[in-house]
Amino acid sequence: AAAQGSTMAARLSVCRWGAAPAAVHRGPLVSWWRCSSTLADTVYDVVVSGGGLVGAAMACALGHDIHFRDKKILLLEAGPKKVMERLPETYSNRVSSISPGSATLLSSFGAWDHICKMRYRAFRRMQVWDACSEALIMFDKDNFDDMGYIVENDVIMHALTKQLEAVSDRVTVRYRSKAVGYTWPCPFPMTDSSPWVHITLGDGSTLQTKLLIGADGHNSGVRQAAGIQNVSWNYDQSAVVATLYLSEATENNVAWQRFLPSGPIALLPLSDTLSSLVWSTSHEHAAELVSMDEEKFVDAINSAFWSDANHTDFINSTGTALQYAIALLKPTKVSARQLPPSVARVDAKSRVLFPLGLGHAAEYVRPRVALIGDAAHRVHPLAGQGVNMGFGDISSLVHHLSTAAFNGRDLGSMSHLTGYETDRQRHNTALLAATDLLKRLYSTSATPLVLLRTWGLQATNALSPLKEQIMAFASK
Ligand SMILES: Cc1cc2nc3c(=O)[nH]c(=O)nc-3n(C[C@H](O)[C@H](O)[C@H](O)COP(=O)(O)OP(=O)(O)OC[C@H]3O[C@@H](n4cnc5c(N)ncnc54)[C@H](O)[C@@H]3O)c2cc1C
Repeated sequence: AAAQGSTMAARLSVCRWGAAPAAVHRGPLVSWWRCSSTLADTVYDVVVSGGGLVGAAMACALGHDIHFRDKKILLLEAGPKKVMERLPETYSNRVSSISPGSATLLSSFGAWDHICKMRYRAFRRMQVWDACSEALIMFDKDNFDDMGYIVENDVIMHALTKQLEAVSDRVTVRYRSKAVGYTWPCPFPMTDSSPWVHITLGDGSTLQTKLLIGADGHNSGVRQAAGIQNVSWNYDQSAVVATLYLSEATENNVAWQRFLPSGPIALLPLSDTLSSLVWSTSHEHAAELVSMDEEKFVDAINSAFWSDANHTDFINSTGTALQYAIALLKPTKVSARQLPPSVARVDAKSRVLFPLGLGHAAEYVRPRVALIGDAAHRVHPLAGQGVNMGFGDISSLVHHLSTAAFNGRDLGSMSHLTGYETDRQRHNTALLAATDLLKRLYSTSATPLVLLRTWGLQATNALSPLKEQIMAFASK
């Protein structure tokens, strides 16, 4: 009996933590559920597991939604509450490029106002160019509209925390609360079983929810427990971030990105005199960059942006020939290459590195479960789109859930969750594929590929409608 008991316990723990059979089919969670037996726990309408930028924004958006005014929402965050008594003078080294679409979402529940009162930097142009040729693409808007905003992650989190406090009657936030187990409802409930998702926390307490939203990052426990397959790989790159002082004050309203054969380097504006660095390069080089002395580090950055050591005469002359041909066919002004500001020094202790990877969940939803943010997709930072994709997930999911709540429908039902999945997978897979392709296309100095991308970039730069479409897609 003891042996049988331990076998059963092992089986149950397997069910809870996601060693679900590889070929779990969509639809009722038949092959891996365990009937939740207790009805005594608190039952929430929605539990968001993971209170990073995306999970916290999701809880805020639901808490401020008119059709959710009588719903009970819980946000679980494994880490501590991040309070900012007052804005620190020193800028944080973790920043995000926020698209206008994301700013609109943050405005819809009042968080953008807090960000504006703290600090952010708008950028009006973006120059992307190749270190192996003269090819470049310049994105700007005729009417000088903002293309995006560089905001410190801590500032966004502070704004979200403030707005969560404003709806504390609807949204409960539990910090230092790690979800350690999820149990799924029986597809054919019995009288004594609960129809909801059952969550166990690290302190042993349990609760239930009609809809579980996994916003627990790229190693998502919710995704694993739901047995959702994830396509993922690690890149051969890490990103080094740092806060940089410019040699002189400038308007500093351009986001710069140069593709070096070892990976892209980006300079994002923070103020007239400060910019933020995101330099993706080999793991070895990244480790060297964070440990080298400050002067050498600054020289390495300036040289990465300014040096033409990777240029060849052949590529330069074919690129120039295409440029002339474009000028003949389309005698309008094509933006000339500009040089980014030079860097004078690095903020002490601001250098940190992050290993990079790609991930995509095969499904974003299951009955009573939805994935958002990095739990559903992880992308290379070269497009500055990771958190924007997560905010886009929120806009779509809140739209579908709000309609369901208005119509008095079950929030965990697949009938509207699949609408969310269809909307978002269409957008996110296109972005993931494009970002991965760019990463690979630019990680080489092989002449045929350099030629291909030089011509591609020059042609795209000359085709205003195509550029506008790219800008419209990225600004969502
Ligand atoms: C160098 C770099 C630069 C980037 N720049 C940009 C940019 O410019 N623009 C952009 O859009 N994106 C950018 N990104 C991507 C962006 O940072 C991520 O996409 C975003 O932070 C993901 O947020 P998230 O909330 O989905 O996940 P996470 O930030 O990983 O948050 C997950 C949260 O869940 C919590 N958690 C995990 N497990 C549990 C559990 N079991 N119970 C309770 N809580 C749990 C964690 O504590 C964490 O707080 C960049 C990324 C990197 C690495």
